[in-house]
Amino acid sequence: MSQWIDGTRLAEEIKAAVGTEAARLLEAGVRPGLAVVLVGENPASQVYVRSKVKTCRDLGMYSENIALPVATTTEELVAVVQGLNARSDVHGVLVQAPLPASVDARRVVESIDPAKDVDGFHPVNVGRLVGGRAALRPCTPAGIMEIFRRYGIALRGSRAAVVGRSDIVGKPLALLLLHEDATVTICHSKTPGLREVTLQADILVVAMGKPAAIDDTYVKPGAAVIDVGVNRLDSPERVRGLFGDDPKRLDDLSRKGYTLVGDVDARKVFPKASFLTPVPGGVGPLTIALLMANTVRAAAAAAGIPVFAHGLGDGRR
Ligand code: NDP
Repeated sequence: MSQWIDGTRLAEEIKAAVGTEAARLLEAGVRPGLAVVLVGENPASQVYVRSKVKTCRDLGMYSENIALPVATTTEELVAVVQGLNARSDVHGVLVQAPLPASVDARRVVESIDPAKDVDGFHPVNVGRLVGGRAALRPCTPAGIMEIFRRYGIALRGSRAAVVGRSDIVGKPLALLLLHEDATVTICHSKTPGLREVTLQADILVVAMGKPAAIDDTYVKPGAAVIDVGVNRLDSPERVRGLFGDDPKRLDDLSRKGYTLVGDVDARKVFPKASFLTPVPGGVGPLTIALLMANTVRAAAAAAGIPVFAHGLGDGRR
C-alpha cells in the first residue's frame, strides 16, 4: 500500500513542539530571536522572508527582517552580520539566498557566528556534520530526517540514493543518512546510468530542480521516495500531461499562471512507492519548521538550557 507523507501536518507538530520550548525559554527569561537579512527585492525571497518572520512571531519568538539595497557590498553585508553576531537578543542569523552576484556569498556565510548559524551552512557546522557531532543542521535535510523518524521508515541497512549534490540539500542529507547506517550513493548530472542506481534504492531522495524528471521506471517497488524539488510549471500542455484534468492544478494555472511541481512524476511513482512526499505539502513546510527548531536550539545553547528532551533529535541527526 502506498502512503502520502503529510509534510504540512508534520510541520505543525514540530512547530507546536518548538512553541512549547520557546515558552519554556521565555519563562527562564530568554526570548529566542531570529534575524533574517534580505539583500535586494527578489519577490520569491521576499515571500520566504515574510513567512519566516511570521512563523517566528506565531510561535512567540522575536524576529527581525533587515532589508538591504541590491547594491550592498560584501563588506557592508559582513558588517551587518557582525552587528547581529554581537547582539544578545538575536540567537539566529540567516542571510537569505540567493545573494546578488556582486556579493561574495561564501565570505558572508563565514562571517556568521557558528553558534547563530541556523541555516547550518557555516564551515564549522559542516565539519561537525561530517564528524557526526551535535550541531545546527541544514533545515531541509534535517526536515527530511524527521520524515523518516516520524513515519518509522527504517534507514539502518537500507540502500539510499540521493539525486543532487548541492551543499544545502544533497550533500548534507547524504551524510545524515550515512550516520543512520544507510548505504548511500550520491548522484549528479554526470552520473552514468542513473536509473540503475535509483532502481536499487530503498530510500530515494530527489533534489535536482528538474520538473517531474523521475518517473516510475527509476523507482524500486516499495521504495520510500522523497521529492525535494520545487519547480514552477506554466505550460498547460505539460501540466495536463502530468495531472490530467486535476481541477486544483488547472485553477493554479488560471489564477497564478503556474503550478508547483516536484522533481518526481508523482502520478506514476505513487503506486509503486511505499511512501511519497507531495509537492506542495511535503518537504517544503518542514524546512521552515526546522529553521524555527534551530533558532530555539541556538537560544537554548546560548543560555545553557537543554531543550527538545522528547523528540526532534539532539542535533546529531
Ligand atoms: P542545485 O541546482 O544546487 O542542485 C541540483 C543538483 O541536481 C546538482 O547536484 C545537479 O548535478 C543535479 N542534477 C541536475 N540534473 C540532473 C540530472 N539530469 N541527473 C542527475 N542529477 C542532476 O539545487 P538544490 O539542491 O538547491 O535544489 C534542488 C531542488 O530542491 C530545487 O527544485 C529547489 O527548488 C528545491 N529545494 C526545495 C527546498 C524545500 O524546502 N522544499 C529547499 C531547497 C531546495 P551537478 O552537481 O552535476 O550539476
